[in-house]
Amino acid sequence: MNDDTGRGFPAHDASGGPTVSKAAAGAILTIDLGAIRENYRRLKTRLNGVRCAGVLKADGYGLGAAQVAAALAKEGCDIFFVALPGEGVALRKVIGPGPDIFVLNGLPPGSEPEAVAAGLCPVINSAMQLKAWAETARGMGRSLPAAIQVDSGMARLGMAPAEVEAVVGEAGAFDGIDIRFVMSHLARADEPQQAANEAQRGEFERLRKMLPAAPASLANSSGIFLGPAYHYDLARPGAALHGVNPTPNEPNPMLPVIRLEAKVAQTRQVSAGAGIGYGHTHHADEVLRLATISLGYGDGWHRRAASAAWFEGVRLPFIGRVSMDSIILDISALAAGRLSEGDLVELIGPSQSVDDAAGHAGTIGYEILTSLGARFHRSYIGG
Ligand SMILES: *Cc1c(COP(=O)(O)O)cnc(C)c1O
Repeated sequence: MNDDTGRGFPAHDASGGPTVSKAAAGAILTIDLGAIRENYRRLKTRLNGVRCAGVLKADGYGLGAAQVAAALAKEGCDIFFVALPGEGVALRKVIGPGPDIFVLNGLPPGSEPEAVAAGLCPVINSAMQLKAWAETARGMGRSLPAAIQVDSGMARLGMAPAEVEAVVGEAGAFDGIDIRFVMSHLARADEPQQAANEAQRGEFERLRKMLPAAPASLANSSGIFLGPAYHYDLARPGAALHGVNPTPNEPNPMLPVIRLEAKVAQTRQVSAGAGIGYGHTHHADEVLRLATISLGYGDGWHRRAASAAWFEGVRLPFIGRVSMDSIILDISALAAGRLSEGDLVELIGPSQSVDDAAGHAGTIGYEILTSLGARFHRSYIGG
């Protein structure tokens, strides 16, 4: 394992500080940049020549936008999407002037100068944003790049059909705007049987024909797997690059990207009847061997997630409540002395995928990734 230092990027920590040492950390998050690169290549193969962006919102799905962007750039990826202008400014600093960076949520009023300075391309989601960007361009005496997003049936971001009709009827509405893409987003792409997908695609076709001619983009990760009709000129995967299954009803076609291991802080044996953890939600019904690990809800492990850790293929169920900084495991299945202080148990890895962990927590892999905490030692491999 080699940490990602000395390659031009700061070691990652969500709070902006240096990553904690492996020896001092309570848990270790290993991020396989080689797997991210392989996932990009797999999507490219499926896209058969269509361009493929990298979506890196929420700090690269919690895995470090700077490191992930550098890995994708080595595969020839030169278009990135983030959610907010601040994320774009940070990414621009580490990725350099070449790649396009699109801001999915559009520019909040007044942030246009910062976006221009960082060379960001807004995704224009409303007539008001269109006007503001066109005025910014006019003020600078040059054209400015942007994507235009239309709402084809998700009611989240993008111009509504009536808004599209209104702006196309306005003379000069797009003056000064270099429209790089017309795009939209699918609400149910992970459900291939859903008629909503074809309905959105049809509506996207109708709306984009009203707008000035430009390359088109519709598919997120799951959208890529809906087939070539959804690929258009640019795909925008995020989750699949980061190892989340884009085809939830089928085996994951992507490589897993992360491994999360927590350290044993302490082991003990308790007698029958002992109350375990906050609220004594559990009492030992016989003599039990327990291990307390240094990872809890303060590290993004959901308090309600009934789950387990794994050690050398042996399942070690959580027992009692998840605490802020610790979880108690029932290690009675292991021979006495097999697990001791400082040993690592697996929370996410070969025995339990991100999607498995999400299932136990009643959520989706996306939320597991973006919840991963700031206290981990982060180790980047395979870059
Ligand atoms: C998040 C997002 C994506 C990427 O979606 P994934 O499901 O992670 O692949 C693409 N486009 C838009 C507009 C998004 O908000």
